[in-house]
Amino acid sequence: MTTTPSDLVARNWASNLTYGATRVVAPRSLDELAEVVRTSPRVKALGSRHCFNTIADTDGVHVLSNELPAEVSIDPERRVVRAAAGLRYGDLAPMLHREGWALANLASLPHISLAGAVATGTHGSGEAVVSLAAAVAGVQLMTADGEVLTVRRGDPDFEGFVVSLGALGIVTALELDIVPAFEIAQTVYERLPLDAVLDDLDAVTGLGYSVSMFHTWRDPDVVDQLWVKRRADAVGTLPSDVLGAAKAAAKRHPLPDVSAESCTDQLGEPGPWLDRLPHFKLEFTPSNGAELQSEFLVPRRHAGTGIRALRELARDVAPLLQVCELRTVARDDLWLSPSSGTDVLGIHFTWQPDQPGVERLLPAIESALEALGARPHWGKLFTLDGAAERMPQLYPRWHDFAALRRRLDPRGVFGNDFLSRLGL
Ligand SMILES: Cc1cc2nc3c(=O)[nH]c(=O)nc-3n(C[C@H](O)[C@H](O)[C@H](O)COP(=O)(O)OP(=O)(O)OC[C@H]3O[C@@H](n4cnc5c(N)ncnc54)[C@H](O)[C@@H]3O)c2cc1C
Repeated sequence: MTTTPSDLVARNWASNLTYGATRVVAPRSLDELAEVVRTSPRVKALGSRHCFNTIADTDGVHVLSNELPAEVSIDPERRVVRAAAGLRYGDLAPMLHREGWALANLASLPHISLAGAVATGTHGSGEAVVSLAAAVAGVQLMTADGEVLTVRRGDPDFEGFVVSLGALGIVTALELDIVPAFEIAQTVYERLPLDAVLDDLDAVTGLGYSVSMFHTWRDPDVVDQLWVKRRADAVGTLPSDVLGAAKAAAKRHPLPDVSAESCTDQLGEPGPWLDRLPHFKLEFTPSNGAELQSEFLVPRRHAGTGIRALRELARDVAPLLQVCELRTVARDDLWLSPSSGTDVLGIHFTWQPDQPGVERLLPAIESALEALGARPHWGKLFTLDGAAERMPQLYPRWHDFAALRRRLDPRGVFGNDFLSRLGL
């Protein structure tokens, strides 16, 4: 087993957080992993470190998955791929594509690990497309006693195992649903009137397979960009303008004044799913790099009210904001998924890297959106004070998850301060 000096992986991607791990290990086998789990008072799996909050932090041992066997096998009958949990989506996608298969959706960046994304309920967008977590058909994890457990869709409590917040064990492999490979064409429109969008939100979000709106809130009445990712085999064509907004004449980055070089191809040019569903290319830094993020997922029936509530806060939000992204995610049944039981509109914020400023502003946004039943993204910044009281109200299966955790991890080996503050 490799023991890495902890300062090599001491910070998260955004560098707003220094992890408290006293040791970082990279087991080469399940036996080595079992030894770590059985003998350490506190253990936490670390994925690609893209979370902005302390969910992945520990005061014990950080476990990296990069030296565990990196298996990938496709089962065309069951239409699932089994893959090592530490693999990045950006590494898995080309392997699937070469065999004629695809994942139904990807997040804005392909840089994230399968297990980290799934544990936090990470999503892409689409009216009919579920989150990355809801594409999980099976989970193999090592529990606190060093035993390997496999749970598949249809098994008791499966819906509790997927979005696990890293609290149930070390996930070693995942089975993900696959679909036949497909092509997507990406088109950007600029400057949509917000009132017209709110008059018929469904018409806008229904323009493609996956749709994102980017709003800087500098001019609250105008949505800066609309990104439409449309399947190349979809019937019909996109309109030349949407609510008066014309197609962009050149490639765009969601952030104003940032080069679009790092973005996946646009201008309506069809290409493979893996080269269009993410906004950003694997070989570049995604988004900006110097940033923080938050996101709240509002039940779809309250989407318009949520956007209007945000417009009321635009004057306070805009100075701290790089860009806000609005996108839909289809409902699932996973206990701790932010889209559990309801279609949602994700209201995402890419903030300036000013954490005290963001933390001061968040309660106003949270009180406006949580009144509508909005749930925070598990991997992004939200207010942890009072979260232990708020979460059971937002998640009907919260207490079932807490019971599952107590059953699987009675010693609290996978606990950390983040989970404690959630009351878990
Ligand atoms: C630029 C950028 C863009 C983003 N875009 C999106 C987006 O489009 N959609 C979206 O929903 N989110 C997005 N995110 C958030 C991101 O998807 C989540 O933070 C995700 O959790 C990152 O995965 P990770 O591997 O980096 O997780 P980490 O931060 O490493 O870990 C997250 C959690 O997963 C747990 N974990 C990791 N590996 C394992 C394992 N093997 N077993 C058990 N638990 C494990 C950790 O313990 C921790 O609790 C974005 C983030 C960034 C930085």
